[in-house]
Order: sequence, then C-alpha cells, then structure tokens
Amino acid sequence: MRGRLIIISSPSGGGKGTLIKEVRGMMPELAYSVSFTTRQQRFGEEDGREYHFVTRERFEQLIASGEFLEYAEVHGNLYGTSISESEKLFDAGKDVIVEVDVQGAVQIMDKKTVDSIGIFILPPSFEVLKARLTARGTEGEAELRTRLRNAFNEVMHYSRFKYVVINQDVPVASRQMASIIMAERQLLDRQSGAIQGILDSFDASKHQFEL
Ligand code: 5GP
Repeated sequence: MRGRLIIISSPSGGGKGTLIKEVRGMMPELAYSVSFTTRQQRFGEEDGREYHFVTRERFEQLIASGEFLEYAEVHGNLYGTSISESEKLFDAGKDVIVEVDVQGAVQIMDKKTVDSIGIFILPPSFEVLKARLTARGTEGEAELRTRLRNAFNEVMHYSRFKYVVINQDVPVASRQMASIIMAERQLLDRQSGAIQGILDSFDASKHQFEL
C-alpha cells in the first residue's frame, strides 16, 4: 500500500514539535518531511534537520518551479512543503509526517492530490499556550505577541481536521497520536492487498477439505 501524508498542525506553542519527536521515537518507521523556510535559524537548529533555511529569493524560485505542495506566510516568514522527496517515500509504502500551520494544512486537504490524514493539536487552554510559548523563550516580545494574536484565528480551524488531540500531557497526547496513525493503517481498504493474499491461500488449500 502507498504511504500517506500525516499532517500535524496547531497554533504556535501547541506542542506539535515535542509530540512529533515522541511519536517518531515510538514509530521509527515514520518518515519526516523537512520544510523550507525563510525564517532565521534558531540557536541549536541545523540546516536540513529542522528546516532547509533559504533566502526569500531562493524560496520564490522554488515557488516558481512548482516545488511546493503548499506554502504560506506564517508570522511574517515563508514556510513550504516540498513533495518530491515524500513521493518516493510514499511509493516505498512509508507514511510521512509534515508539520504545517493551519493555512498549509487546509491547502493540502483542499488540493486532494495527496492522500493525507489531518491531526490538529489543541493546547488545553489559552493560558497554557501563552505559558508554553513564553517559557520556550525562542521569540522576542513582538514576535511572541504576533504568535499569540494569530493563535485566536488558528484554533478556529480545528473542524477541518479528521482528528483532534488535546495536548494536556505529552505522554498521553503522543500515545493518542501514535494510535491514530496505527489505526489508520488497519482500515479495511488500506489492507485489501494483504487480505486478498490471505484469502488466496485459503482458496488454494480448500480442496484438501473437499470444499
Ligand atoms: P516555527 O517558526 O515556530 O518553527 O514555525 C512556525 C509555524 O510554521 C508553525 O506553526 C509551523 O507548524 C509552521 N510550519 C512549519 N513548516 C511549515 C510548512 O512547510 N508549511 C507551512 N504552511 N507551515 C509550516
């Protein structure tokens, strides 16, 4: 069976980065799509690991060459998902996680060119979101305000997703995310090839029982 794109989205500070890390630890067979961004590299980030860090000019060239499945301006920077690498992984039967903002998630879901599963991560409350973003300390005062202001609009998009995970407690929420991904693989129509193989083996042996 072809792999699928697992879209993980939430407001900034919703905890999706942490949850994705946990889930990848539990399910090492999952692939991860590294996005492109024009934002400044943060201390501790590595080019090609968290993001491909590019200039705005390079990003615009990538848009023009049709490299992106989706792209969006988020909190003043451009972010985009390249699909060419993921296509190869889908062909190899691998599911690929992509972390995108809500605009990007909606673009992917609307296009319907890629088989995807949408999971939205909600913080347990606005206060918790604010506390997490502040404690992270990766943004200055103005950037923090932008992200908090944008969160009001972002949470309203929850209804576009098939699944919602409330990130109150990381071990619980990450197990919920992993369960969703595993359950999606067990859907009957995702297993028709394997089921047919099993039924064929029954069919080939039924003469032994005079059926
Ligand atoms: P950060 O700057 O904190 O790493 O990310 C800011 C926002 O951009 C987050 O909501 C993150 O999910 C989103 N983001 C990261 N990669 C992509 C992408 O490829 N496309 C879109 N649309 N958003 C992305």
